[in-house]
Parts: sequence; C-alpha cells; structure tokens
Amino acid sequence: MGKCDLTIAELRKIYALPLMELINKSSQWHGQFHRVGEIQVCSLISIKTGGCSEDCKYCAQSARYQTAVSAQPMMQYADVLKEAQKAIARGATRVCLGAAWREVRDGKQFENVLQMIRGIADLGVEVCCTLGMLNPAQGQRLKEAGLYAYNHNLDSSEEFYKTIITTRTYQERKDTLNVIEKANLSVCCGGIIGLGESVDDRLDLLLELCTRDPQPESVPINLLSQIPGTPLEKQPKVSIWEVIRLIAVARIVLPKAMIRLSCGRIDMSMPEQALCFLVGANSIFEGEKLLTVANTAIDQDQEMFALLGLQKRPAFAYGV
Ligand code: SF4
Repeated sequence: MGKCDLTIAELRKIYALPLMELINKSSQWHGQFHRVGEIQVCSLISIKTGGCSEDCKYCAQSARYQTAVSAQPMMQYADVLKEAQKAIARGATRVCLGAAWREVRDGKQFENVLQMIRGIADLGVEVCCTLGMLNPAQGQRLKEAGLYAYNHNLDSSEEFYKTIITTRTYQERKDTLNVIEKANLSVCCGGIIGLGESVDDRLDLLLELCTRDPQPESVPINLLSQIPGTPLEKQPKVSIWEVIRLIAVARIVLPKAMIRLSCGRIDMSMPEQALCFLVGANSIFEGEKLLTVANTAIDQDQEMFALLGLQKRPAFAYGV
C-alpha cells in the first residue's frame, strides 16, 4: 500500500459512521488483506527498566515521577534469551526488546542489545526493539544484527504531543522514523488512547501514519494505564466504543498494517477483545507484564484463543 491521500475530514466521516456500518466496513477491509481470526502473538521484554530522563506523563519509568518502578540494571543476555524462549514456546512469533532510554548510545549496553538481537533472531522469530532515538549508523548496526522492526510511537497528534512530553519534539520522533526506514527496518509506530486527547487528536495520529509512504507495517494501539505517581494517574478510562471505532478506522486507512492491541488489554473483557479482532485488530502481547504494567493472564489468553477459534500468525507473514 503506497501513500494514501485521505484528509482529516474523510477520517472524521468514517469515524462517525453508524457503528454497525463501521464494523461491517472495517471487517470487509480486514478480510481483504488478512486471514480472519489470525492473530500474531508478541512478547515485550523490558531489558532496561526505569530511570528514564524523559518526562512522558503516562510513564512509570520516567525518573521524574514517584512511581513503584525503580531504575534497574540491564538484563543479562542469558535471562533475555530464556524469556524469549518461554514466550516463543507459548506461541509468540515476534519478540520486542524495550529499554527506557531517551536515545541509543554507542557503547557496552548497545553491544549487549545487539547480542540479544542476534540470539533471538536465531530462534526464527521477528525481533523488534524500542530503544528511543537512534542515528543512521546505529540503525545499520541493528539491521545487521538481524533486527526486523523498530518501534517508535508518535503517541497522539502533534498538537497534543506537546502537552504530554516536553523533553523531545514530534519532529524528532518523525526524524527517527525516517532513520528506521532508511536502515530498511520495518516501522512499528502507534499511539495511546486516553491521555486526555480529543477524538480529532486520535484521528490526526492515524492521518499521520496512513499518509506515510510506505505506511507503517505495525501499529500498536495502547490504552492508557493510569499509573499511580504519574501526572495522568487520575485520567478517566475511555469507552470501549471509542476504542472500537478507532481500531475500525485504523484498519480502513491502514489496511495492510498489523494492528496490535497493546497496553490496556487487561481491562477488556473477552467479548470486547473479540469485537476489536472483528474490526481489524490482529495482534496481542502475551505474558504477565507489558514493560512495567500488568497484562492479561496467560491462561485467559489461551482460553480466548480456544473459544474464539483464533489461529496464531506465523513469523514474517506481514502482507499475506
Ligand atoms: S515512555 Fe519511554 S521515553 Fe518516555 S519516560 Fe517512559 S521509558 Fe522514557
């Protein structure tokens, strides 16, 4: 799918369709580009937790807020490999490594990350990283180590972004996305719902993503987890219907992308998740934790796959 020329007015129009019509339309788009009921299971391992210099208002790992998360040393290679192997044994075909960094710095820790990537890539799965901003040489080294994708979220609209993060700009995020693309890494870029943004902010983010050329291969949709100690700890939850509408629009305007139900799935019932899959979500994160927040229990996911007759998507099937 090349560049699309949709406008914000068109996205608003799709978003405002009668719900049943929107569900039907997005399901049809989904069926054209993806196998219905096929879900990619991903695993997210926090290889370097806490102590981050950035001020993202939603994040437990920012050193600026008093949260239950403290700065931890980087995980050992053997432990990361063990975590990855366990996730793969449970059906994960994509393993993402997350570090609470503003940016990648050359040196021992980066070398450790490269070693982890090599080790997990040898297991035959897609390896993704989320390490903050990076330069072209680092992008190249990640690619050479066997990295498949790099996650770097835009979070929300450019306008709203400034109210949530002041330590970096939207443009810096976009610059890093360009570095990722130039390194021939697959782009994983999505957002967070429930930060206090408007529906238009959410649609602006989708417009930003769908007008990229090429469109991102992977679009995580997170729901805010209200972390005690962060400035957004009292933020109200977003209605499931707003979530469904947004995923449906995402599926229509990003038809080939993997839409990943990420943080916040723990608060969704099984029927709510089924609706998300029906309108176009086709990936989940498994495991007890998503970085620092609790995730849906592993046995509940197994039950859901059985009950809904979901199939696990193999690795490297993007675009099928
Ligand atoms: S979201 Fe990432 S960059 Fe922002 S504070 Fe958390 S770990 Fe740091």
